[in-house]
Amino acid sequence: MESPVIADDEFDVVVIGGGPGGAATAGLLARKGHRVLVLEREKFPRYHIGESLITGLMPTLEELGLLERLEALGFTKKYGGTLLWGKNQGTWGFRFTESALYDHAYQVRRADFDALLLTRARELGVTVLEETAVKGPVFEGGRVVGVTYTQKGSKEVRTARSRMLVDASGQTHLLGREFDLVRYHEDLRNIATWSYWQGCNLYGGTKAGDIVAENRPSGWFWFIPLHDGTVSVGYVTPIDEYKASGKTLEELYADELLKTEEISTLMAGARRVTGFRNIKDWSYTCEKFHGPGWALVGDAAAFIDPLLSTGVTLALRGARALAEAVDEALTDPSSETEILDWYEKSYRTFLDSVLDFVRFFYDRTKHKEDYWDKAQAQLDPEKLRPREMDFARMLSGLTGIDDIFDKRKAA
Ligand SMILES: Cc1cc2nc3c(=O)[nH]c(=O)nc-3n(C[C@H](O)[C@H](O)[C@H](O)COP(=O)(O)OP(=O)(O)OC[C@H]3O[C@@H](n4cnc5c(N)ncnc54)[C@H](O)[C@@H]3O)c2cc1C
Repeated sequence: MESPVIADDEFDVVVIGGGPGGAATAGLLARKGHRVLVLEREKFPRYHIGESLITGLMPTLEELGLLERLEALGFTKKYGGTLLWGKNQGTWGFRFTESALYDHAYQVRRADFDALLLTRARELGVTVLEETAVKGPVFEGGRVVGVTYTQKGSKEVRTARSRMLVDASGQTHLLGREFDLVRYHEDLRNIATWSYWQGCNLYGGTKAGDIVAENRPSGWFWFIPLHDGTVSVGYVTPIDEYKASGKTLEELYADELLKTEEISTLMAGARRVTGFRNIKDWSYTCEKFHGPGWALVGDAAAFIDPLLSTGVTLALRGARALAEAVDEALTDPSSETEILDWYEKSYRTFLDSVLDFVRFFYDRTKHKEDYWDKAQAQLDPEKLRPREMDFARMLSGLTGIDDIFDKRKAA
């Protein structure tokens, strides 16, 4: 079936991409009464990696009115994580209850999770065009005033005009490329390969939905139990290590998997039920997150290594902050630069905090107490809470969030 076509038209906000960052920004802005258009290249539900969620995204889902519907989808409840990480210490881990706000998040099939968010955006009044690819921004007098796009099955290039353009195009980072903003973090030049398994052994009780992360000398594995009995098992390694190994990615995955302690035990007797997927997993941050008439959110602004499962949370936290900022800029156009500066500053502080911790955590020569100390130094320098609690708080993605996205404190 062909996608519906809209007349060339003017919107308050045009959003490129209907993933979590785009759908949430659009939905929250429509709820505030703005006319919003989302242009999404794919037809949802569509496959996406990024299945392990953390509780830092729950406030945005709550604001969108999605908590009950998410629960009804029956995804695996994730109460925390089990780690075989660092020096000679067996398994250890964290529970979200220690970070107090929400006791669980979910392990999700992203196709279904993302479709729920996009459906919600529609319900809130957003016009969504799927199978519609944005080609590039439209400028007038140095300001971005819209985009050109094409729809599947048609060669016609159409235009949608916006008072504010939000780029939520994920790792396509459409505006980041257009404006040459993408700066890669050379120390996090990784590659990830993964597949899906059945017949794995799972832990019991509230650990049954744990993500399991196990380090290897040159990389690490994730083990993510999904609700239909399959488990997503992925290996992340520096691109240089992979090239130096002389093996294919699949060979490297199989060889390294055999040498794991915890994960190979959980996978005893399991069978692989899909082929392999892989992706360049190379962290970056854009040099600017906004300019005249445009702003970036989610992976379009920055991507941080999947080690702490922060991607969707960053996108949804960013969406919430950006919706507030854009609402204010549309209401009072003279405040646009100032309010988007605030958005950029607060979002960047949050990202930098996560990045700082990821870099420390990648040093696998440390003991768990060192990781706890690092989390405490970042989140709780006055040592008001036990350091294990600060670690759980860091891994829940709530990293000082109340301060970071509190507009009243921005000035
Ligand atoms: C190996 C790996 C593992 C990961 N694991 C996790 C995890 O466990 N937990 C977690 O939270 N995160 C994880 N992530 C990160 C997570 O996948 C992303 O951070 C998250 O999807 C970002 O959401 P987004 O909305 O910004 O972008 P996306 O979800 O990528 O959505 C962008 C959308 O834009 C659309 N689009 C792109 N270009 C155009 C265009 N020109 N026109 C129209 N539409 C366009 C795309 O089709 C897509 O639907 C992982 C990432 C990788 C690489």
